[in-house]
Order: sequence, then structure tokens, then C-alpha cells
Amino acid sequence: MRVPFVDLTAAHQELKDEMVEAYRRVLDSGCYILGPELESFEAEFSAYCSVKHCIGVGNGLDAIALTLRAYGIGPGDSVIVPANTYIATWLAVTHVGAEIIPVEPDELSYNIDPCCVEAAVAPNTKAILAVHLYGRPADMDALAQVARKHHLLLIEDAAQAHGARYKGRRVGSLGDAAAFSFYPTKNLGAVGDGGAVTTNDTTLADRIRLLRNYGSREKYINERIGFNSRLDELQAALLRVKLSKLDEWNSRRRRIANQYYKSLSMERLLEISLADSVSEPVWHLYVVRHAKREKLMEALFRAGVETLIHYPVPPHLSQAYVAHNQSYGHLAITERLAREVVSLPMGPHLSESQVNWVVRALRDATEYV
Ligand SMILES: *Cc1c(COP(=O)(O)O)cnc(C)c1O
Repeated sequence: MRVPFVDLTAAHQELKDEMVEAYRRVLDSGCYILGPELESFEAEFSAYCSVKHCIGVGNGLDAIALTLRAYGIGPGDSVIVPANTYIATWLAVTHVGAEIIPVEPDELSYNIDPCCVEAAVAPNTKAILAVHLYGRPADMDALAQVARKHHLLLIEDAAQAHGARYKGRRVGSLGDAAAFSFYPTKNLGAVGDGGAVTTNDTTLADRIRLLRNYGSREKYINERIGFNSRLDELQAALLRVKLSKLDEWNSRRRRIANQYYKSLSMERLLEISLADSVSEPVWHLYVVRHAKREKLMEALFRAGVETLIHYPVPPHLSQAYVAHNQSYGHLAITERLAREVVSLPMGPHLSESQVNWVVRALRDATEYV
């Protein structure tokens, strides 16, 4: 048996008729940018997240950067970010000219440790940018408490967590604003690049609408130094189709995560905990840890099981940030995670027998690795 890490074509096969219909509808409409499909998607996704506004943008990185920029965060300011995240979180802060203050993760949740956040607040800190890593909501109440006390904005990087809940509430509605990515492999993925910001802040929503479209509300009237970062009609139409399946696909991911957890909790793998009592993760990734990770991955590969590492190089050790001439010091937990984590195959189209195959391969591998 071969178990690919993720199978995007299977997802599109399941929705083929609706997706082809959406594609034709856009093609025939003659409207490809800032049209009715985007408006409908924005209305549907904001309703899904239980917020007032959704603004579609070009990608997840822009969703974060435009949010920071619309809040006026820039040179002279600092933003608290998780040390343990995908580099896009960091890049967005750097692109607006603000300084990064990295904070180590809690080892069980992999998310930013709220206990370390307060000590990291500096006089110029303007925001906490929390990531719901691997689809598990960060501890938003604890973060909100620090944010309130120090008058900071609390922004979500929800790129890996579409549909996840924290104390019953959807991510995207938990802070002042949230950034989503619709990169094809995300839980809600386009057939190309895409992103969105969700918020209840009407002033912010208005500013981001301006910034994403050349600083212009009305053609040739430019109020601000804007950008070109729009979610196009074709992606919006296809995302509408896929949004209708998001809950079902997330619950299939949850079932697979349960199956992994039940079968693996006895093994010598350091396990990501099933779920904490307050959150409902959506398992963008299912991550385990092992001291001899490379050997384990090799053995799994020989058994036909494809695994990946999220992420092998933490942002502060990447060439980009080493060359950035700022030392972030030794981030011990983040660096250890980067050496030990391995992501198992995960996705709504993984069959039960494939998951069993992965489990068996892992059992065999851990015998001699
Ligand atoms: C994917 C991702 C992003 C960036 O999204 P793009 O659409 O690829 O720009 C940002 N943050 C996190 C945590 C991500 O996983």
C-alpha cells in the first residue's frame, strides 16, 4: 500500500461537478476580479466564523501584513509572535517594518506559551500575533488577558485552523482580527493562492478593503498608498463550493486523529495530546515526535508511507533571519521541536485502512529505530 502525505485530487474528485459548474459560471460571467463571487464568499465565510466582516485578499501572508499595516503597526513598533511557527507569520511583521519578539511554545500544545508572553512585552509592543498551529487553537483567553492589561491588539494567524473552535467559538472571531490562508493544502484550500481577514472591527475592514485594491474605493480615486492583493472570482467561486464541505471534512480529519491517537498512545512516540478540554482542533497536521526522526521517516518511506516535517528550520535560524542581523538568542524548546517533529499523513480522503497501514508501519519502525 502507498499512503501519500495528502491527496488534493481526491478532494476535487469528490466535488468535481460543483467545482466545474462554479468554474464555468465565472468564465461565462466576464467578471474576474472584485465581483459577485467574492462578495458571496465574504458573506458566507464571515457568517461561518460568526464575525461581521470578511475581506478576501491575495494570500495568507498578505492577510497578516495588511492587518498589521491597517492597524498602523510599523517601524518603531514590536509584535510578539510564536518562535514555533511557519516563517510567513514572521515575514508579515518584518514586511511592515516592525520588530519581532519571539516567544517559546508550550510543549504539549505546540502553541505560544501565554505564561511567557507577559514577560516578553516591551514598551513599544503593539500586538500579539497568535498562531493556531497544526489546527489547534492557541490559549486565547490567557493571551487576551495579557493583551488587555498592556493595551495590545490580539491578532490570530488562523491559516491552519479554518473551523476550529475555542470554548465553543470559531477561530477567526477570537481576537481583534484574524488572518486566513487558502493555500491549496490548508483545511479550506483554493486551486491557487488566496487569503482573507475576518474581524468585527468595521474601521479595520474598511481600511483593508482600501489597501487590497490600490488604496482605492472608486476607480482612479486613490486615498491611500495601497497594494494589489485581491482574492479573484475564480478562487472565490471554488472556495464557496469547498466551504460547504469544510465541517464534514474537518470531522473526517478528527476521526483520523482519534484513530492515530488510540493506536499510537502506547508506542514510544512522544505524542501530541488528543485535545485539551476547551478546544476543538481541526487537525491541519497530525504531528508526533521522535528522537531519531530521520530514521523513523526512512523506515516509514520504505513501507510506502509519506511523511513531512513541519518545520525543519525555525524562522530565527533560517538564513533570512540570520542575515537580518538581529539575534533572537537560543530558543531551546522551538529548536528541539524542529529536530524531533514529524507529520503523519492527514487529510479528509485518507481511508481507515490507510491509517491502519500507517499505524502498523510505525509500530514496526519503532521496534528497531
Ligand atoms: C500557510 C501559512 C501562512 C501563509 O499563507 P500563504 O497563503 O501561503 O501566504 C501563514 N501562517 C501560517 C501559520 C501558515 O501555515
